[in-house]
Amino acid sequence: MNSQTHVLMGAALFGKPMPRLAWAAAAGSLVPDLPMYVTVGTLRIAGFPLSEIFRRIYWQDWWQIANAVGHNFLLWSGLALASGLALSGRTRRAWPAAAAEPGARPLTAKTSREGAAALVFAFSASALLHSAIDFLFHRDDAHMHFWPLSDWRFRSPVSYWDANHYGNWFGLFEAAIGILLVVILFRRYRALWVRIALLVALALYVAVPAFFFVTHHG
Ligand SMILES: [Zn+2]
Repeated sequence: MNSQTHVLMGAALFGKPMPRLAWAAAAGSLVPDLPMYVTVGTLRIAGFPLSEIFRRIYWQDWWQIANAVGHNFLLWSGLALASGLALSGRTRRAWPAAAAEPGARPLTAKTSREGAAALVFAFSASALLHSAIDFLFHRDDAHMHFWPLSDWRFRSPVSYWDANHYGNWFGLFEAAIGILLVVILFRRYRALWVRIALLVALALYVAVPAFFFVTHHG
């Protein structure tokens, strides 16, 4: 899926109790694609054309492994499980609601540890969700989600972008979900800069297809 959909989903699902968690979730949903952005940015600055980047360089082992680390089921499920266990039970109720109540116990090492576990959970659960969605909707560009245990890739019948494999329909479906998530998050958070970020995400659903339309048909 497009990065902004991952970010919106992560923030909506795992960011509820406090905005700080929403940012951790948004960052976690972006991190699997981070190696790609950094590499494409660096290669563009070095003067490589996009066609060479995606037809040749993208498929080299080092880049495929960077994608495999970013979208790793073992890494993200391990972190989500560990932080989820740290949060579960009594400690879960103690944070953050108790800390916000009048007369609440002061923030101790224990509560700040719980706060850290909540942030790690929001971050890793979002990264895991991103990886799972990519697992389902990537075809020729599928990732090695179980690397280094296995280099197996699931070649999905549905590609999130390839028109030969339902990519056009999926794009419409994804934009519909994205717009719905923007509305949910817009109502949840009132801060101006959060709302500006949401409007930017919304604009990307128009801008990205428009860019491809212009570059392919112009
Ligand atoms: Zn991805």
